[in-house]
Amino acid sequence: MQFDVITLFPELVSSLVESGVTGRAVNRGLVSLNCINPRAYATDVHKTVDDRPYGGGPGMVVRSDCLLQAINDAKQNNQGKVLYLSPQGKVLDQTLVKQLAQEQSLILVCGRYEGIDERVIELAVDLECSLGDYVLSGGELGAMVIMDAITRLVPGALGHTESAEQDSFSDGLLDCPHYTRPEVVQGLAIPEVLKSGNHAAIARWRRKQSLGRTWQRRPDLLQAKTLAQADKVLLEEYRQEQQASAEVLSHEQHYPTT
Ligand code: SAM
Repeated sequence: MQFDVITLFPELVSSLVESGVTGRAVNRGLVSLNCINPRAYATDVHKTVDDRPYGGGPGMVVRSDCLLQAINDAKQNNQGKVLYLSPQGKVLDQTLVKQLAQEQSLILVCGRYEGIDERVIELAVDLECSLGDYVLSGGELGAMVIMDAITRLVPGALGHTESAEQDSFSDGLLDCPHYTRPEVVQGLAIPEVLKSGNHAAIARWRRKQSLGRTWQRRPDLLQAKTLAQADKVLLEEYRQEQQASAEVLSHEQHYPTT
């Protein structure tokens, strides 16, 4: 996967590939990252890339000339879609990440200030993409989020291929809880089944937790999913277990033993 990022802050974006999964993926040649700074196309002595908005008002707007030239240059070596990071775009989720991961390459355009000249979007952008309903100072964090999420799906980028398949949202569900040593932390022990060595029982327990957590925390995800009969049984078991432990808790609160 090839990423070309158009940004006024290349050092910020480049830090993504200095460590972790993304760093390893670049070192293994699975992913490449190239930053293009629109400032390199500014023609005045101050290397200006922004200007005042037509119609007045606060702030500055990133100019179209520098941005369009930067995008054109990126296109010389990258035939991929052009994404503009914008709070007004399609909100990124795992489904969109999976779609984007099918591409060979992407060009990511990061805005700053009040945003970029609208005509750049009309002329050169294929998709506007948002991180969520809040406003950031620039598109760089969004570009980094997209690149990180896609890299996890590139074959060979993760130590264990299954980890991406078991992650939250990959199957329309949240992930199950995870534990590591020690066995007891401040009185909280790990679930017995995880020590059993019974792989079928462990897989069943994990699936049940995954279904139960989704039901409790993200019921909207469950509504969008048709559950197999076996999953319905597991979810019902989870609900009953939750109800039973809530009843025990309530009994203990009413009749404390000490
Ligand atoms: N005036 C713009 C608006 O309200 O739609 C916001 C401009 S914002 C201060 C500057 C840049 O940050 C945007 O051009 C965009 O690239 C980026 N940005 C801000 N919020 C974002 C979000 N939620 N998702 C993706 N990019 C965002």
